Amino acid sequence: MFEDIPVDVSPMYEGERIRSANMFVEFAGPKSIGAELVQVEEDVEDGKIEVVGPNLSEMKEGEIYPFGILIEIKGEKLEKELEGVIERRTHELCNYVKGFMHLNQRDQIWCRVSKEAKDAGFKLEHLGKSLSILFKEEFPIIEAISIKIFTNKEDVESFLEKTSTLYEERDARARKLSDEDVDVFYGCVMCQSFAPTHTCVVTPDRTALCGAINWFDCRAAAKMDPDGPIFEIEKGEVLDEIKGEYVNVNTVMADRSQGTVDRVYLHSVFGYPHTSCGCFEAVAFYIPELDGVGIVDRDFKGETPLGIPFSAMAGQCSGGKQVEGFAGLSLEYMRSPKFLQADGGYERIIWLPKAIKDSLIDFIPEELAEKIPTEEDANSIKEIRKFLREKNHPVLERLKEAKTAAESETETVEEETSTEMEAMPEMEGVPMAQVAYTPELSLPSSGGVKIIFKNAKIYAEKVIIKRK
Ligand code: SF4
Repeated sequence: MFEDIPVDVSPMYEGERIRSANMFVEFAGPKSIGAELVQVEEDVEDGKIEVVGPNLSEMKEGEIYPFGILIEIKGEKLEKELEGVIERRTHELCNYVKGFMHLNQRDQIWCRVSKEAKDAGFKLEHLGKSLSILFKEEFPIIEAISIKIFTNKEDVESFLEKTSTLYEERDARARKLSDEDVDVFYGCVMCQSFAPTHTCVVTPDRTALCGAINWFDCRAAAKMDPDGPIFEIEKGEVLDEIKGEYVNVNTVMADRSQGTVDRVYLHSVFGYPHTSCGCFEAVAFYIPELDGVGIVDRDFKGETPLGIPFSAMAGQCSGGKQVEGFAGLSLEYMRSPKFLQADGGYERIIWLPKAIKDSLIDFIPEELAEKIPTEEDANSIKEIRKFLREKNHPVLERLKEAKTAAESETETVEEETSTEMEAMPEMEGVPMAQVAYTPELSLPSSGGVKIIFKNAKIYAEKVIIKRK
């Protein structure tokens, strides 16, 4: 079947990574443009493969080129609703081709061809042919398939105009529905090949974190293949509506993660946030100094206020991990009224890249838009604090309340202990590193004095304890 393709094609190459030293050329990615699209059409010439623009033989080693893949499919049982889910498989199936690496989805794709593949005689037509065979194998309801690959800047640009309109149409449809309107959510385990403990829970309000699959897509996919990687989760009993915790979701998470994760909050970065695979479009991260949440997307090139770029942050929380204070998410989820609702939604957002802010401006509450800084306004904790004060961001109220609560707790403790303070021994030599960051610390005392530190940070060069 793959006999006239000069490289191997098999699922065993899915994890292949092509480093820049081993790369012949790169396609799309952060330094160029690209997209992929699957369309169900009435008229499809089966097996037609077309490359529009320069092929590998006309490309220069080490260069980066624009890239577009248009996959047209036809089949009696194919529905428009299946386009998103079938399109999402492009990532996996491209990676079956030895010497071709594919990352991400939609207009975020990033691909490379290895030098070995080029030397073996691999051409872009071979990628198209491999995909046409693999898609038909994976989805027997595809009766005819044709593939067009674009590598010209002008063609990719006009392809991008088309894709962005169609992506938006798909997303807008799902936006009309909310979690309360349905009895069924969906799970997706497509990313378990590289994130074995990860299951995406897709609800009307929470588009999958890759941004490529919404609730309608999942419904069509689960109907087409009930035993496939996308499956139904009966919504069932709600444990916490605001945080988005459901008994059945927890059960599915525990089952599909082999017991690694047994609780998930769909709408919070605290406690038990949703696990993150590695395909997420953005990451929400807690900024403890200001008790707020920042957002960074994969297109953002600079450092976040935490002093690390997106890639380093993604490394900390991907692979199916559940890391409190971090949550991978789709940009579409940021358009939902339930976006991190348990944490305060946009009232808790204290930093995000300008490009995201501009693209979401119609979904950010009007009174908050000017209060949330971007990289153009602030880049460090100090600068963000200054900006939040100038704009009177609502997170300041939280900080004030937390401070007042801490002070009143301190006063209570002081009152409780004041009568006995005279009897308290001086402290010297206590390892204060143990005291700092200890949420609650109780030091036993021989004279009946009890000292309680709650959420205390104590700094001291030395502490002296003397026998009286
Ligand atoms: Fe499925 Fe989630 Fe991976 Fe998207 S990110 S393919 S929804 S598991």
